[in-house]
Amino acid sequence: MKDLIGLSKDELAGELSLLGEKPFRAKQLWQWIYFKGETSFDNMTNLSKELRGKLQQHYYIGRPKIVTEQLSSDSTRKWLLEFADGERIETVYIPEEDRGAVCISTQVGCAVGCKFCHTGSQKITRNLTAGEIVSQFMTARDTYGEWPSPTNETRYLSNIVVMGMGEPLHNREQVFKALKIISDGDGIAISKRRITLSTSGIAPHIEAVASELGVKLAISLHAPTNEKRSLIMPINHRYPIEAVLTACQKYQAIMGMSRMITFEYLMLKDFNDTPEDAKQLISLMKQYNLGAKFNLIPFNPWPGCNFAPSSNNKVHAFSKLLESAGYEAPIRVARGQDILAACGQLKSKLS
Ligand code: SF4
Repeated sequence: MKDLIGLSKDELAGELSLLGEKPFRAKQLWQWIYFKGETSFDNMTNLSKELRGKLQQHYYIGRPKIVTEQLSSDSTRKWLLEFADGERIETVYIPEEDRGAVCISTQVGCAVGCKFCHTGSQKITRNLTAGEIVSQFMTARDTYGEWPSPTNETRYLSNIVVMGMGEPLHNREQVFKALKIISDGDGIAISKRRITLSTSGIAPHIEAVASELGVKLAISLHAPTNEKRSLIMPINHRYPIEAVLTACQKYQAIMGMSRMITFEYLMLKDFNDTPEDAKQLISLMKQYNLGAKFNLIPFNPWPGCNFAPSSNNKVHAFSKLLESAGYEAPIRVARGQDILAACGQLKSKLS
């Protein structure tokens, strides 16, 4: 039995032609799966009984198993999901007033090993498949009953941030395939403007985020110099700040300067939170002439970590300096801290 979730439109058409069906059946099936969220072939009433029978014989429409589901006091929801081979990941929904973002994972564990990140302390086990990535969002929609795909204005699960467990550009092929399925207008239909791929800075693949996908880009920067960044992000030895920002220029050359790149900046006490750090950051952005905005993230401690959050005063002063240089620099409100669902806190295995 083969799972249909994660097949591209062409692959779905290929499977149907193996069953002797015409290509237009693939569009109908696609809509049942991704627009209506249907998981039972029996309910696909515009398909012949014979086809439904054949589908049932060879395929299924999968969802991961929900191992646990936790609801934070601020309504953030976190699922621990298990796939067929028993591997587990976490997915988080962060609601705002009339919309919200689903934060999806792309790998079991992560090989990047950022020192401030709980996921990074969990060794990489494997990449997720496109189907496993798409099905995280579909599981979230199941929970909130958002089927068939609502219009942009009325949907509650309106955005996707590829910021969960794993480095998405270490799993480029499957992540790109998944995001193409998720943004397809005949199905789940999340606009590319509402999808953000966040990377630790795998420079050689950043341009393709624009040329192949056209989604928004966020870079985990977290320090203004190579010296400091390498201390908390070992990947910086491989792809130093210059390489990452040059790749960002290429992204913006394709997407246009108005498509701002978000630079994530974790505020770590006595490490990267001084006015001097802010000034270095500003001169870096000017040097590369990037359409940039910052996202200042209060650090969410997790068991065993070696960092502490910057004080509120320091974070606000840092934000003001960036804003006075013309950059948006909102301070992210930490969400889901009580269920370890906040940024950098995800982990699916105990160590
Ligand atoms: S911050 Fe992202 S890239 Fe770094 S270790 Fe955590 S999951 Fe991996």
